[in-house]
Formats: sequence, structure tokens, C-alpha cells
Amino acid sequence: MKDGLDPFDAFSLITAHDEANAFDAVVPPIVQTSLFTFSDYDDMVSTYRGEKVRPVYSRGLNPTVRIFEEMLAKLEGGEDALGFASGMAAISSTVLAFVQPGDRIVAVRHVYPDAFRLFGTILKRMKVEVTYVDGRDEEAVDKALAGARLLYLESPTSWVMETHDVRALAALARKHGALSVIDNSWASPVFQQPLSLGVDLVLHSASKYLGGHSDVVAGVVAGPKELVDRIRGETLPYLGGKLSPFDAWLLIRGMRTLPVRMKAHEASGLEIARRLQALEIVDTVFHPALGNHLPAGLTGSSGLFSFTFREGIDIRAFCNHLRLFKLGVSWGGHESLVVPGEVVLQQKAQPNSAQAFGIDARSVRLHVGLEGTEALWRDLEAAIAASQD
Ligand SMILES: *Cc1c(COP(=O)(O)O)cnc(C)c1O
Repeated sequence: MKDGLDPFDAFSLITAHDEANAFDAVVPPIVQTSLFTFSDYDDMVSTYRGEKVRPVYSRGLNPTVRIFEEMLAKLEGGEDALGFASGMAAISSTVLAFVQPGDRIVAVRHVYPDAFRLFGTILKRMKVEVTYVDGRDEEAVDKALAGARLLYLESPTSWVMETHDVRALAALARKHGALSVIDNSWASPVFQQPLSLGVDLVLHSASKYLGGHSDVVAGVVAGPKELVDRIRGETLPYLGGKLSPFDAWLLIRGMRTLPVRMKAHEASGLEIARRLQALEIVDTVFHPALGNHLPAGLTGSSGLFSFTFREGIDIRAFCNHLRLFKLGVSWGGHESLVVPGEVVLQQKAQPNSAQAFGIDARSVRLHVGLEGTEALWRDLEAAIAASQD
């Protein structure tokens, strides 16, 4: 299988469902119902016996949610997918489906902070140990994987955007009999298809690029039917973090434009990263596509990256002077956003540590939205000019 997904192919995958829709509607209906009734006793009993699969209750199967799941499974090249009420529901339901007390998992350092906190609280209480490794150091990953149950990946990582050879790490997990799971929210399936690189399960915060309009919180996991069935059979129904029909409908709407949006985020993000790198006042720009070639496995880059200012810029004044870049968490929508590292370092959530996330106090994270490169650059230039001390 090829590594990348041609945007045109992607578009045909996400529109493939339309012919089957009710009333010949080009947009699928929102099946906003909690339960589904049976035509008669025999219909009910054959469903309960598992002789046929049909919707019973929306915590299990819902037709609108199913359309989203099938779209995402196709985009990631997986057999099946499951939608969740948030990215964290997808992460917790996936990891908890495969670990038990006494197990150890290996995670790359600098994972999404709330995944780090899940591992440091609930998994710890369940007596599941976590070993953090530098994902770029394959020898260290190999060593850490001996006897481990699961390898948890995120590439590029949150904030400092460390990239890994995902194919090589997935092969190491396989060698040690460990299940590999990756958070692919940053690249989206348009720019990275981890299942084709040998990873067992791929998950997303669909709140980011998949939704793309900052109007939904959702998550999804995709992979082979056997592994997805294990999550569907236990953690999804009993932890109960199911995606709602309306949110699934918003995701279907958002994903229609995913390939086009990703190309726009890529072009603007890379141009702004390059211009920042050329400034005297900027120290380091952490953007995976700034080198001469893209890291292995990635076929493009998105609009999220960070950089560090040298002394001489008042970061508070810089943030306050920005007009198009709004101060705000999350990313992946149409709008540009800024998050100062020095604020994140003051967050009270536990467990917390600057070291765990790789966040520097002089760093700033940008999400480059769809407002247009030149307008965004003028905004940054003006804010930098106004905040020199
Ligand atoms: C936002 C995010 C998550 C969590 O997703 P939610 O939808 O907010 O629960 C997980 N991983 C990454 C990389 C994220 O950016």
C-alpha cells in the first residue's frame, strides 16, 4: 500500500456513501434517536441472539454515527472504526481494552498532556506501568519494549513536534508481541496513514482536523475488525463514551472538505514557519516539514507548530497584539490560534511537568488557519514589532 493518500482519491472515499442515502439526499439524515423498535417478537429475538446486526440503542449502533465510522475507516485504510464522544474517550477506551494489572506499556515522550495524565492516574491505579522513551531513539524503544503489552505513539508529538519513523517503531512492537497504537490527529489520514505503516490501531481527536470547524468534540479509532471488536465489545459500551448522531453528522459535513483544508493549512503553515525561521528574534521553529525532506511516513504537514522567541520579545504583549490569531486551546479548525508556553506551564492539572511535554517558557504554539497567508503574516509582524522590549 502506498504511504500517502491522493486528495482526489480521498474525496471519492468520503463521498462514496451518498447513493444509498434516504430520499436521495446528498447529505445523510441525522438519526436523532436513542432506541430503535422491532417489527415483531421474532425480529427482536433474532437480533438479541446476534443472528442479525441492526440498530437497537444508540450507545451501540446508530446509522449516522456508522456513516462517519465507515468514512474514517476508508480514509485510514482500516477494516472498521468506532466513533467516540471525545478524543480522550477514544484514547482511554482503546488503551483500557488491551491492558490489565501488572502490564507495562511503552509511550513516546511528549504525548498529548491529557493522555499523559490518563497514564499517570487511572492506569497507575490499575497497576499498569508506563515507560516513556524518546521515539527517535529506536534502540531505546527496542529495549523498553521487552515484555511490554502496548506501544503508544504520537508522531509528530504535541508541542515540539518530534517525528518518528512510525514504520520502524511499529515493526519493533510487532517483534516484541506488543500492540501498537498511534494518535494521528496532527497529520490526519490525508498526510499519514499509520495502518499502511504497520501500526495496529490509529486514533484521532476528531475535534481537530476531521471536524475542522471547531464546533464538535469527538474521537475515533480505526484498525482491523478483530481489534476494533474488542473495543466495541467492552470499553465502548461500559465506559460509554459514544459519539452522538448530531456530532457524527457535523463530522461527516466537515470531512467532505478535509483534503482541501489540509492542503491549505499545509501551504500557509509552512510559509509562515519559514518566514518566522528567517527572523533574528526567533530562536527555533519546531515544524516537521522545515528540513530538506519530510520525515519518513509523512506525505505532508498540517498547520500546527511551535517556535521559541529569543530574549527581546515580551510574549504577553505579542499575544495581546495579535488580531487574527486568537488566544485559545485546541486547533484544527478554520481559525488561527496562539498558545503561549509560559501559560501552559502554570496549568494546575495533575500530574504535570514541563519535562513531560517538552514545553519551553519562551515557546509559542501557533495553529495556522484558513484566513490567508499574507493576512496572517501581517498580523504576526505587527505583533512582533509592538512587543520588542
Ligand atoms: C485534542 C487532542 C486530543 C484529545 O482530544 P479531545 O477530543 O479533546 O478529547 C488527543 N490527542 C491530541 C494530539 C490532541 O491534540
